[in-house]
Amino acid sequence: MTKFVYDFAEGGRDLKDLLGGKGGNLAEMAGLGLPVPPGFTITTDACRAYLRTGREPFGLADEIALHLEGLERQAGRRLGDPADPLLVSVRSGAKFSMPGMMETILNVGLTDATVGGLAARAGDERFAWDSYRRLIQMFGKTVRGVPGEVFEHALDEAKTGAGAADDTGLDAETLRGLVERYKHIFTAHTAEEFPQDPHEQLRQAVRAVFDSWNAERAVLYRRQERIPSNLGTAVNVVAMVFGNLGADSGTGVAFTRDPATGERGVYGDYLANAQGEDVVAGIRNTMPLQDLEQRDKASYDELMSIMSTLEEHYKDLCDIEFTIERGKLWMLQTRVGKRTAAAAFVIAAQLVDEGVIDLDEALSRVTGAQLAQLMFPAFDLSGAPRRVGSGVAASPGAAVGVAVFDAHRAAEVAADGTPVILVRRETNPDDLPGMIAAQGILTSRGGKTSHAAVVARGMGKTCVCGASLDVDLHEGDLLSVDGTAGAVYLGAVPVQPSPVVCYFEGTLSPDADPLIRAVDRLLTHADKRRRLAVRANADTGEDAARARRFGAQGIGLCRTEHMFLGERRTLVERLILARTTEQREAALAELLPLQRNDFTDLFREMAGLPVTVRLIDPPLHEFLPPLEDLAVKVAVAEERGEDPGHDRELLDAVHRMHEDNPMLGLRGVRLGLVIPGLFAMQVRAIAEAAALVPGARAEIMVPLVGAVQELEAVREEARRLLTELGVEARIGTMIEVPRAALTAGEIARAADFFSFGTNDLTQMGWGFSRDDVEGAFFSRYLELGIFGVSPFESIDRDGVGRLIRIAVTEGRAARPDLHIGVCGEHGGDPDSIRFFHDAGLDYVSCSPFRVPVARLEAGRSAVVAAGSDTR
Ligand code: PEP
Ligand code: MG
Repeated sequence: MTKFVYDFAEGGRDLKDLLGGKGGNLAEMAGLGLPVPPGFTITTDACRAYLRTGREPFGLADEIALHLEGLERQAGRRLGDPADPLLVSVRSGAKFSMPGMMETILNVGLTDATVGGLAARAGDERFAWDSYRRLIQMFGKTVRGVPGEVFEHALDEAKTGAGAADDTGLDAETLRGLVERYKHIFTAHTAEEFPQDPHEQLRQAVRAVFDSWNAERAVLYRRQERIPSNLGTAVNVVAMVFGNLGADSGTGVAFTRDPATGERGVYGDYLANAQGEDVVAGIRNTMPLQDLEQRDKASYDELMSIMSTLEEHYKDLCDIEFTIERGKLWMLQTRVGKRTAAAAFVIAAQLVDEGVIDLDEALSRVTGAQLAQLMFPAFDLSGAPRRVGSGVAASPGAAVGVAVFDAHRAAEVAADGTPVILVRRETNPDDLPGMIAAQGILTSRGGKTSHAAVVARGMGKTCVCGASLDVDLHEGDLLSVDGTAGAVYLGAVPVQPSPVVCYFEGTLSPDADPLIRAVDRLLTHADKRRRLAVRANADTGEDAARARRFGAQGIGLCRTEHMFLGERRTLVERLILARTTEQREAALAELLPLQRNDFTDLFREMAGLPVTVRLIDPPLHEFLPPLEDLAVKVAVAEERGEDPGHDRELLDAVHRMHEDNPMLGLRGVRLGLVIPGLFAMQVRAIAEAAALVPGARAEIMVPLVGAVQELEAVREEARRLLTELGVEARIGTMIEVPRAALTAGEIARAADFFSFGTNDLTQMGWGFSRDDVEGAFFSRYLELGIFGVSPFESIDRDGVGRLIRIAVTEGRAARPDLHIGVCGEHGGDPDSIRFFHDAGLDYVSCSPFRVPVARLEAGRSAVVAAGSDTR
């Protein structure tokens, strides 16, 4: 039979899945011989069973009764004993810390019959009645849903009646009256008496803690922190100890070192004559922990010694909660303490210096998400700016500028030196000049893989997508866009640049300060340990140069279509409109030298490192003007009796080339097979550029392949050209159509390498239009728990991930030397990198700004055991 209850003597922190963080650590401390009040933990298994069925699982009640007897024996008191009652606390505690999100009920066991016994034992009537009124209040609110303010209101009235400034000023008689009043309130709201059976109180309190797993704030918090929604919480039932029994009692919180800087010392707060909740609630002013030494030297010394035991044992910063009851110290909680992203790096490096942990362990204690946080400029929100909207946090950072609604206008305004926020419904390749010129991008449609988001991330530019605002914006309004939080503010919020980026850019020395030293040291170690190479997605010499400064080992994806914008658009138009072979060849001949120059730049910047150039991918009609614009122009010209000429031709082409599902239409390899000379021109440009740059390592990548025959046709022509020009280049394919993944064994016969295009693979694997779904309905899907995080952001291991594993296995089986990477957005996502490592890929490729994050995560993947949680 499943065991649902563990005594503190039975568990340990390695049972965190079952006992939660709090329960596991209480058991760990008990095992270390530290003074932990007796207690037991009800497992997350029990919680999950309860949440599934709405009933306590069979056997749970008996197990609780058994462990309660044990607890009573250890404490030397019985629950419900009128002469000397045992009181217990009932506390939540999930695997991952969810501070304050779930429930706790204290003083369970107090009734009309036992309150006198508590008063006699404590020698303090007032204390006993105060504890009883706290129980009714907490139980009423948490277990039975009585509005908290009704109790607060009654308490305020009691204080006013007694002329007391705070609740410590209420005497026993007043508190006894308040208990009566609270009981009436309870009955009025629940139509039941306040339970006078302590075992019934305990049963209901346990259920309430189980239920609090699904409280609205807990659900929201889990979504935010990406904590799975199916874990459930454990429940800890612990003998109450009291910090509110007079001047020789009190309660406090402490850290074993400074959570902001990592420095060793005594950091904490103490509140005399109080219960734990009072410290957290900030009801009264606390005193620094150091001052406890004067008040109660014995407890202070014991606490200091326990804190070093904990640091030595956990080999990390711990935070603790403790209570002193009449001079006796009790440990109520410990855990590896939360810290800021900067402190995580500094503390990890410091523990290495102190010889407490080695570099591998240090690397496992920092995350790519933390490094990413440190790389973006941030807003200083101390001035409480006016928030006017929110949306998808599509590309992190902080940008301030005036709102401009048109990309060309944005470029003009920015050219005058005015910082601009480009505000669009959504963006398309035409908007690129405005996006480049803008400080930040704000769209009302789209999500994390929309055009705006992908391009902005590539440029390291702040972007919020799918935003809704509560104001009407006008051109020229000053806006501050927070791409890290997905927030929009009216007015200019002050911005602080990231010192970590300055270090990568080479403008800050690796010795600049403890944070930069720690980042430098841990990244250097990650580079030594990682198996995955890290490349960058870059289309320009400038991007490539930055990618190298950030540590990229090559280019994993150059999207050549970005090179066909601006003035070159007219050449693409000529290609589309060509009626004869001569006209088409003439257009291609003009594009050739331009492309050659583009590639030469990339090969130079990447001196000797591989550069994967992808042949053109998007449907060609994306390069034509919008249908509406052309239709209006033609109609106006015809109305005036003028000849619309070229515009008419373009309009006809737009009509001719219209596709209902362009993402599934004439794009990628299909273009190369349908438009003679297009891919050949690109291959020639790549080869000629490679021939010009000594040491150039060109790789040619074919997009959207679904069948080996497609790849073979392109490869044959490319090989012929390369041989003719005497240039060596590997030819490979993207794997981004599910059929390609499923027939990878065949495709590998014609490919030197695979690169997973996880944006399209996710789009086609799920059947989700990547430009539409995130803004349209993902919030509902997240609410329903269909997935915990957008599959466009973090790889869907079970579905899309399975396609990837099949392709890796079958591709390598057919061709053992097949080189395999990923160049979709997931290549820079910390969680997904771990998956790519485990799946056996050779490299990840991501936007230049995410290269350091990918280096770190690839290193962590190599040192953290497979299957374990890397958070
Ligand atoms: C992909 O599909 O993952 C990819 C890298 O190609 P693109 O985003 O350009 O479609
Ligand atoms: Mg793609």
